[in-house]
Amino acid sequence: MSVLVVGSIAIDTVKTPIEEHSNLLGGSASYAALGASFFSPVRLVGVVGNDFPESEFQFWKERKIDSEGVQRANGKTFRWSGEYSWDLNTRETRSIALNVFENFKPVLPESYRQTDFVLLANIAPSLQAHVLDQMARPRFVVADTMDLWIASARADLDALLRRVNLLILNDSEAREITKETSLIKAGRGIRKMGPEYVAIKKGEHGALLFGDGDQFFSCGAYPLEDIHDPTGAGDTFAGGFAGYLAAHVQEDVTFDVMRKAVIYGSVLASFCVEAFSLERLRKLTHDEIADRYQMFKMMSQFEVLT
Ligand code: AMP
Repeated sequence: MSVLVVGSIAIDTVKTPIEEHSNLLGGSASYAALGASFFSPVRLVGVVGNDFPESEFQFWKERKIDSEGVQRANGKTFRWSGEYSWDLNTRETRSIALNVFENFKPVLPESYRQTDFVLLANIAPSLQAHVLDQMARPRFVVADTMDLWIASARADLDALLRRVNLLILNDSEAREITKETSLIKAGRGIRKMGPEYVAIKKGEHGALLFGDGDQFFSCGAYPLEDIHDPTGAGDTFAGGFAGYLAAHVQEDVTFDVMRKAVIYGSVLASFCVEAFSLERLRKLTHDEIADRYQMFKMMSQFEVLT
């Protein structure tokens, strides 16, 4: 089954304590779509400007990412620049230029409206809702968000949460949205705001998944020695998660499938950070994904292996 992905398509400048690169392909939807495409066909929704490389449309085509929903507007593509501190976990936005994003109103092609699985990658919650408004009863809606919207668009975000099946956010955002110090209380608290499931990402410390009652799952992160660029890890996690669900959910969404989706999301995110921009994901193979999945399995086994 296909996944509809909406979010930002961007040209980024990223500075880590070691390196700086500019004019990188980025944006929440670019990472999420590529992540999801390893498991299922993708229908992409976004906007780009005249400066956006035509080659990317060709790449999407090769990867079964349908770009009919990507508008080409007159002007420049959305630009973002960020700088990471030494722990590669904290990041400051150095500049942001909305450009063609400023007047963006997503309009879904007719062929997209029936999609069962939806990933609302990080953009303003009002735009995420606008996409949902145009869809005919999706089966499962995944949403990602960020601190900016928790602080500046809280009413829109609260309204959106009531329409979402799974919310993905990072640990500091989970604390911010609930005003809880405990992540366990935060995860359970967010469920009360609407989403049936909540996934909290903890960067290099893995991820937590909350479901109904005592449904709880915790997974570590892959022990990488070299992280080159953490940008997009969260979006890739969300993409891998949603793509895996679309490919594997049969009748009902079970907690067992959700647990595996967390692992596949983590596997993809661990590859994403190995290089700047989308470069590692572009070269990634299914065999590499399968090998790392097995590593995750071995690393989290605690009974004696026979
Ligand atoms: P992540 O590292 O997962 O938070 O995502 C990084 C990507 O999000 C970058 O490629 C940026 O282009 C994009 N981004 C940054 N700020 C925003 C924003 N306010 N709205 C949408 N996308 C953004």
